[in-house]
Amino acid sequence: MTTIHLPPATYSNAESAAPEGFDAIFATPYPFSDHPSFPEGILKRALEDAGFSVGIIETPFWQRSDSFKILGKPRLFFAVISGPVDSVVLNYTSSRKRRMEDLYQLNGNAFFEGYPPSISYKIRPDRAVIVFSQRIRQAWGDIPVIIGGIESSLRLFAHYDFQQDAIRRSILLDSRADLLVTGPGEKQLVTAARLLKGGALIREITIPGTARICKETERPDDAAELPSYEEITTNPARLIEAHKTTLKAMGQGKALIQRYGNRIVASQPPERYSTGDLDHIYGLSYMRSNVMGGDMSPALRMNLFSVTSHRGCAGGCAFCSLNLQEGRRIISRSLDSVVSEVERLTHHKEWKGYISDIGGPSADMYGAECEGETCIRLSCLSPSRCPRFDLQRRYLGLLRECRSIKGVKKIFVGSGIRYDLLLHDPELLEEIMVHHCGSFLRIAPEHTEDHILRLMGKPPYKALEDFVRLFRSIRKAMKRKVELAPYLMVGHPGETERDVEEMKRKLFSLSLPTKDVQIFTPTPGTLSTAMYVAATDLTGRDIHVEKGLKALSIRRRMIASG
Ligand code: SF4
Repeated sequence: MTTIHLPPATYSNAESAAPEGFDAIFATPYPFSDHPSFPEGILKRALEDAGFSVGIIETPFWQRSDSFKILGKPRLFFAVISGPVDSVVLNYTSSRKRRMEDLYQLNGNAFFEGYPPSISYKIRPDRAVIVFSQRIRQAWGDIPVIIGGIESSLRLFAHYDFQQDAIRRSILLDSRADLLVTGPGEKQLVTAARLLKGGALIREITIPGTARICKETERPDDAAELPSYEEITTNPARLIEAHKTTLKAMGQGKALIQRYGNRIVASQPPERYSTGDLDHIYGLSYMRSNVMGGDMSPALRMNLFSVTSHRGCAGGCAFCSLNLQEGRRIISRSLDSVVSEVERLTHHKEWKGYISDIGGPSADMYGAECEGETCIRLSCLSPSRCPRFDLQRRYLGLLRECRSIKGVKKIFVGSGIRYDLLLHDPELLEEIMVHHCGSFLRIAPEHTEDHILRLMGKPPYKALEDFVRLFRSIRKAMKRKVELAPYLMVGHPGETERDVEEMKRKLFSLSLPTKDVQIFTPTPGTLSTAMYVAATDLTGRDIHVEKGLKALSIRRRMIASG
């Protein structure tokens, strides 16, 4: 017997469509969330605030290009937004196994409902931005296509793809998109919409925070040049130079170019956001639900009552992709703006008094400032704290103000916290332990061996020892029990089996639990991934890199308990 499956349904907000159609149409490989923690939610509200109408095609059946026709042709552009995580990172474990679940889909189900769990029926295809953009081209031909989100930012230039174990070229070439928005993107998308409405051609748009393919005569002035795609495929070790140059140019506010034969991928200097910009964007009206108003994805459920207080991370951890997306400078919202968002939450129909998070990439960096205009360091905190990094210590005041709001029972700090910064702020640590965590306080030392921590751009082991001591001295005086829960990583470039044995010994001597141990994932675009490919450190010195999945899994088991 043969079972015939009809194509899965493609959902949209067509019911609410204006009869005259939309200015812009977003395509997303997961259900749309009207929430400021989700890129599609915040970008839609930013465009609507500027007077543009936005249609949503969510979870299209991507095998067929007519799924991208259900809302008709947008007047200005299509935008492909693939969410807060790269699709390959989401679709595969660090052991290269295909995941059967996807936290961003309804009930976490990664496959179209009622269809076999095969790659053809996965709601989020691998390299979703490329697949969606190509289908839009097939459906509509020469229509403006803009791509954005973390997948696009990480794959803007030649990069390593761990699922294919290969160097891939820029996503702009493979997707055939016209414009790539780098970073969070609200200002860029609104500016692009205004220019297109005014009659500009998409291929002429050259604004900060965007990238496109151009000719030699169109390349930005004073751009830093990365090794070409051909140079990197011939010698993949040059990825280190490429990634370092990218991060330094971002810190200096410079444009970047990379050559592909006679074509150039050119990225304009990053767009700058201010406190006023963030206050305005987060002050817009969000329903905090999905567009269909029904079931929620686990990711939306977890973040339903979370609040973003700032963007950017000064840490510059080598394995993390956030500094490529949000940059290293901290841009914080004003206290009034965060407080008024919390007040609005208390009127949500599902409000029960609990906020799952107020923070950003690292919660305790709220309010931190840098006096410098430009910077070529890769981290504000590693190998030592930059003298121009001014922590300001405003996070404590923010938490106190928010928990005094009527109707707020408890605020959790769900974002990561930098324990090396908390060492200098025991008052904040005590406040978090007493008021803002459950039975565990999560920290991310990742490792214990200093030579690995240096490669990772993390604080030295001594900072962890000092922090554990401080934490326990505060806990002695507390009535309730709080434990530390460290995130740990094995398999980072440079690590040997002996390092793992040492890590096990040190964690045991500190009596720290070892439940959360992950194997290093070579995410596209990070410095750690470049070290993984090159098998050298950032200075070109040879390092050991373990790539065998069996050996990595043994390392994980050596540390992990429970
Ligand atoms: S604090 Fe220092 S390292 Fe960080 S951006 Fe400013 S100058 Fe650069």
